Amino acid sequence: MHELSANDLNFSGGPGALPAAVLAAAQTAILAVPEVGLSVLGISHRSDWFAGVLEEAERNLRHLLDLPDSHAVLFLQGGATLQFSMVPMLMLRGSGKVAEYLRTGYWSAQSIVPAELEGEVRVLWDGEPGGFSDLPDPDSLPYSPDAAYFHYVSNETVEGLQFHTLPGLDQVARVCDMSSDFLSYPFNAKRFDLIYAHAQKNLGPAGVTVVIVRRALLEQTPAGVPPILDYRTHLHARSIYNTPPVFAIYVVALVTRWLIDDIGGLKHMAEINHRKARALYAMIDSYPELYLPCAARAHRSRMNLTFRLPSPALETEFLRRAASEGFSGLQGHRSLGGIRASLYNAVTPEAVEALCEFMEEFANRH
Ligand SMILES: *Cc1c(COP(=O)(O)O)cnc(C)c1O
Repeated sequence: MHELSANDLNFSGGPGALPAAVLAAAQTAILAVPEVGLSVLGISHRSDWFAGVLEEAERNLRHLLDLPDSHAVLFLQGGATLQFSMVPMLMLRGSGKVAEYLRTGYWSAQSIVPAELEGEVRVLWDGEPGGFSDLPDPDSLPYSPDAAYFHYVSNETVEGLQFHTLPGLDQVARVCDMSSDFLSYPFNAKRFDLIYAHAQKNLGPAGVTVVIVRRALLEQTPAGVPPILDYRTHLHARSIYNTPPVFAIYVVALVTRWLIDDIGGLKHMAEINHRKARALYAMIDSYPELYLPCAARAHRSRMNLTFRLPSPALETEFLRRAASEGFSGLQGHRSLGGIRASLYNAVTPEAVEALCEFMEEFANRH
């Protein structure tokens, strides 16, 4: 029997697990930030200490992604959902061009609705007829070189689908919602014009959304965008235009510090994540009559592993037994049902091993 805590066995799709060392540091900071003597919940966002936190969070992100100064880093509120509107307000409104989107799952489908309020949207590929179980081949999509921008979701959190190669044309602005796989592997950030990722899947608590945007893009901001929805406002105000979520940003600084100091960077993080996902998919695949994977093999997510059991009753039994053994967060998204194990960065290989053992035992009983 393993000796893992309930936090260790949290496989939630979001808010997701955070590293134990980060939780301990956050706990200390809630009582008193050591170098200040005040609770992080009561420190001014205009303090020198918080200026240092913002600076560290940005520096860590730049270091992890090898991000050049051509791109700005912003810490915004409103979640990924607000970015579904802010992106087309900036890049589509009044442009007279067409925005191209991939509709590959629940979240990318959500992202299209507000874009259509700002201008013309062309869906290059729609996975709904196929039950959102597959992704397109990025090289065979009918891209237009004249598009206002190209938008996709790198990891469909609900369905468990992930792009393993980069879609889009380099001559068209590439925009990506990376909310559920940001900082889980290294990638070339310079090939993106705008990346957004809220914190609560892989890098902190809900409340802050990291936006990485090519500075030159902001010159095309149309007139009439309210200041709080204008990226330039936040850039000029250094992410403290209004009161920011100080605690959430502090935890992002801690998580990025953990990625650098304890994990050793994104290449190592990716190796660990590959091993975790490989182990759990191997377990799923060794009982093909009991564990029925939802996503096409080539596009399986390394962050969210989705599968069904042959009947709703068996799924209920699986979740019940898992809960009784201390596992949590395994219920599929409310829109889809089934089982989803989310293996975000903070989920340890030991926790995945424990889940594999549980699944083997469950399979042997059924
Ligand atoms: C969870 C999720 C969202 C929704 O984010 P909010 O912060 O709740 O607005 C959007 N996109 C992706 C890929 C997600 O996983």
